[in-house]
Amino acid sequence: MKSCLNYIEGQWRLPETDEWSVNVNPAYPEEKLGRIARSTQTDVNRAVEAADAAFASWKEWPGAKRGRLLAAAGRLLEERADAIAETMTREMGKTLPEARGEVLRGAAILHYYAGEGERASGEHIPAGDGKSLLYTRRIPLGAVGLITPWNFPVAIPVWKLAPALIYGNTVVLKPAGNTSLTGCALVEALVEAGFPPGVINLVHGSGQVVGDAMLAHPRLAGISFTGSNTVGKLIAGTASGRGLKYQLEMGGKNSVIIMEDADLDQAADLVVSGSMKSTGQKCTATSKVIVMKDAVEPFTRKLLARLSAIKAGDGMQPDTYFGPVASHSAQQSVLSHIRRGIEEGARLLFGGGVPERGGYFVEPTLFAGVTPSMALAREEIFGPVLALMEADTLELAIRMANDTDYGLSAAIFTKSLESAMTFINHIEAGMVKVNAETAGVEYQAPFGGLKQSSSNSREQGRAAMEFFTHTQTVSLSI
Ligand code: NAD
Repeated sequence: MKSCLNYIEGQWRLPETDEWSVNVNPAYPEEKLGRIARSTQTDVNRAVEAADAAFASWKEWPGAKRGRLLAAAGRLLEERADAIAETMTREMGKTLPEARGEVLRGAAILHYYAGEGERASGEHIPAGDGKSLLYTRRIPLGAVGLITPWNFPVAIPVWKLAPALIYGNTVVLKPAGNTSLTGCALVEALVEAGFPPGVINLVHGSGQVVGDAMLAHPRLAGISFTGSNTVGKLIAGTASGRGLKYQLEMGGKNSVIIMEDADLDQAADLVVSGSMKSTGQKCTATSKVIVMKDAVEPFTRKLLARLSAIKAGDGMQPDTYFGPVASHSAQQSVLSHIRRGIEEGARLLFGGGVPERGGYFVEPTLFAGVTPSMALAREEIFGPVLALMEADTLELAIRMANDTDYGLSAAIFTKSLESAMTFINHIEAGMVKVNAETAGVEYQAPFGGLKQSSSNSREQGRAAMEFFTHTQTVSLSI
């Protein structure tokens, strides 16, 4: 069984107390995949101190030179895409093509930020006295903590690591426990790209132990977190208490509105992939679909036809549409949302159960007759469950879509420019789609949410520079 060690100060290291947890395949829970180091506060302190020590020289590297290492890491991810994807599929259940696509996206993000090393720049401002030089420059924060979830175990760490490193920060990465083997495979590729010791550090273990230790360390200069709102709020409380720069990307309750004039086949295809791909375990997954009354009957028929064609499997077979949810606790949580939907009076139109095959599977599930006050319309489920609602007007549909604490992604299907523009102008979501599924956006564009989905700083693209640098204003006269 593979041992997944910490990587600190340029070396793979055993955890201080020699304690481990074991990761299993959610499709076959009896299959043990590897043992994962359980770090202590001492391990975390060592990692933060290594990152802090390495920062002094790493920040002096020219951006182009840092970029060459990112590009080398991107090439290594490309070469290893098949192997890393297989680890990911076994560890968290995403299908092999989705996992491979994610690794290649990670590579593309590294290549994108490799180029940013030569583009990070400030602003020249005309000085009032006409003779001094007034400008801003971007300076790195220092040793930054990165805490990531299991649902995109390569793409999310990379979209934090790459901008952190290119702008001159050093990092301590804490991947989610149940995708630590994938996290190790990612860091192995980064290590081979040749980053100097201490620039990239990896610590595994309990989120609370590692997170608390990181946040308590006086040399930590910032923290970027993606995960649940519960944990995000804890991090925000501690970080703001000590004046630490923080960035949070959290949950979503993403709506799609279907107008009468929509291409209903296209809409049904994209609502099903938006809600069911990755077994619904995406922060941007389509979770409720609000359909204009006249389109409800034909649209529901099309949805049901597509849902019945979904083939679940362990993710390794080419005809598998979706795999298991990521863990036993994820399965229990999704099932409890389904039970609550039934108790609250929603009509279960499809699925709702657990197939007999064993493993942490949940059937693709569709509820109809969902009303705004039901939990199905308000809470993140993070599984293959879709809530169908009805509205008479676009204005009402937008109100229903906005009636949640989240604001990550939302979409409308329509052929009318007027409807599309009304939607864009009134929907409370950070990423808005017209005739496309709810999802993230390409890596060169800003990613993030409104309301409780995000701390409002953006990831990806040039926007990532806002979090991973400080602005320094210089007034120079000789
Ligand atoms: P989670 O909050 O349970 O865990 C996320 C990370 O935080 C893990 O590494 C975990 O070990 C760590 N953690 C747990 N407790 C901690 C603590 N007390 N202090 C510090 N770190 C701690 O989330 P998850 O179950 O891994 O992921 C699912 C959630 O992530 C969903 O809510 C989903 O919407 C969200 N998500 C958001 C985005 C986005 O970009 N908005 C992307 C993917 C996932």
